[in-house]
Amino acid sequence: MSFAKSVTVLGGGITGLSAALHLSRRLPVRSGVCINIHLLDLAPSVLTVPRSAPAARSRFLHLPGAGGLTSIPTSLISLLTSPLARVLVPAILQDTLRAGQKGEDARAPVLYEDPSEDESVDAFLTRHFGAKFAQMFGSALVHGIYAADSRILSIRAAFPILCQLERRGKSSIVRGAVADMMSFMPQSALSENEATEPYDLGEVPNLMKGVSVYSFREGMQTLTESMAKHLEARPNVDLLLGDGVRRLRKVDGYFEFTTDSGRRITSTHVVAALPLPQLHCLLEDSSSQTSALPALPHLLANPSSSVTVVNLIFPPSATPIHPDGFGYLIPRPSADYSAPSLGVLGTVFDSSALSGQDRYPSPAAYMRGRFTKLTVMLGGPFGDPSPTPSSPQFIPALLDGLWMHFGRRERLPEPCLVRVREHRDCIPTPTVGHTVRMKELAVAVKERWGPHAAVIGAGVGGVSVGDCVESGRRAAYELAL
Ligand SMILES: Cc1cc2nc3c(=O)[nH]c(=O)nc-3n(C[C@H](O)[C@H](O)[C@H](O)COP(=O)(O)OP(=O)(O)OC[C@H]3O[C@@H](n4cnc5c(N)ncnc54)[C@H](O)[C@@H]3O)c2cc1C
Repeated sequence: MSFAKSVTVLGGGITGLSAALHLSRRLPVRSGVCINIHLLDLAPSVLTVPRSAPAARSRFLHLPGAGGLTSIPTSLISLLTSPLARVLVPAILQDTLRAGQKGEDARAPVLYEDPSEDESVDAFLTRHFGAKFAQMFGSALVHGIYAADSRILSIRAAFPILCQLERRGKSSIVRGAVADMMSFMPQSALSENEATEPYDLGEVPNLMKGVSVYSFREGMQTLTESMAKHLEARPNVDLLLGDGVRRLRKVDGYFEFTTDSGRRITSTHVVAALPLPQLHCLLEDSSSQTSALPALPHLLANPSSSVTVVNLIFPPSATPIHPDGFGYLIPRPSADYSAPSLGVLGTVFDSSALSGQDRYPSPAAYMRGRFTKLTVMLGGPFGDPSPTPSSPQFIPALLDGLWMHFGRRERLPEPCLVRVREHRDCIPTPTVGHTVRMKELAVAVKERWGPHAAVIGAGVGGVSVGDCVESGRRAAYELAL
């Protein structure tokens, strides 16, 4: 039995779609490949917010126990006049002055010389900027990106740039950042591969210059929908929707997959872009079969966060619902996460941050007053919100919470739209030691499944949309075809 070369991509999230898209371009033409993603023609629907725009510059913290929002300073003057100066100024001084101090921190040289050394984001920031800074800013940032506890998140996996700056600044991040700003080419921003691989982006780099936030007119789903549409039109791709993989085997050197509907697929190569715990379950469920694919290490090493997302739209009101800006984050409470609470991690001011997504039926309707659209994220390390999202008390409690966060005198008006979505185990938390574990996983895949297999996805290489697109592209390039 012999098959033409074919690749099965497991998982149709952003990572899997990106891998399939790049593989579909690569497979028919094996040499001189130049992958071109701007073939999706997304540029016309991209919405960007420049770094200089108020929506990008005005970001806030809501400090637990205090009413209202505190603006995060973005310049020296705003820093000196900010109530956050009492934490930020000593933090910056601590990091700058400790640089190179001998014996002050015996761990620092080990960390920046040896890539296998790792620590939590909280420990790293505490070492550089002090415990208060780590709790106030570090935990809030991690809530906003990972919906996780900064005390378990790996600095190397989550913010490798900070490790690079630490090395560049000879143990000081501030000095590293200054050195980076003053050099012609910021070394910390470039990896070897990024500098050498072909990647024609058309006008996209120009579009993205100086951009702080980007999305699409119809939201981020535009990206996955465009990738799926493009794949559907490719003659060398079969898209299988709504039919999960149930069993994995390797028979006579070929990968064999059985789906929930009983369909059997055979291919010479495989790219698994599934959440790692789900890949683990698949391997366990398949393990009793003859020719089952061998188990892999570290698939259950990391926890995942569950997040409740609430979209709210308020009708036009006489006073603004919230200040102009991108939104706010809430740091870890000093009493830890133990007390039952709503567990708000942060809120995005959608109609302020990405107003291009809001469409009004006519200019007159726009002039009559603008609606206010918000996205609130809850859960993560706080656990399930209390009251629970399905209870009738949930939305009133949330509106009370937002009223207090915004520091408004008047109560919030009744929202004209409320949408609540609960996402279980939706964002993996790469815990300390993640990068080393993922290297071991990659080696095990090659040794146990062979050179024609790859395991990728948000649980492996990074959770951002950009990370996922890039890991799919990289896998498509690196798979031995
Ligand atoms: C609420 C929220 C907000 C976010 N906001 C941002 C943001 O603002 N910016 C940003 O950059 N990132 C953001 N992210 C992160 C980013 O969206 C994710 O990390 C990314 O979408 C993960 O993509 P993935 O393809 O690796 O994984 P997934 O999207 O989890 O895809 C895996 C796919 O595998 C499928 N699957 C599972 N089991 C099987 C099986 N047995 N057979 C076949 N298929 C299977 C699943 O159905 C799923 O479609 C956010 C994430 C969440 C949850």
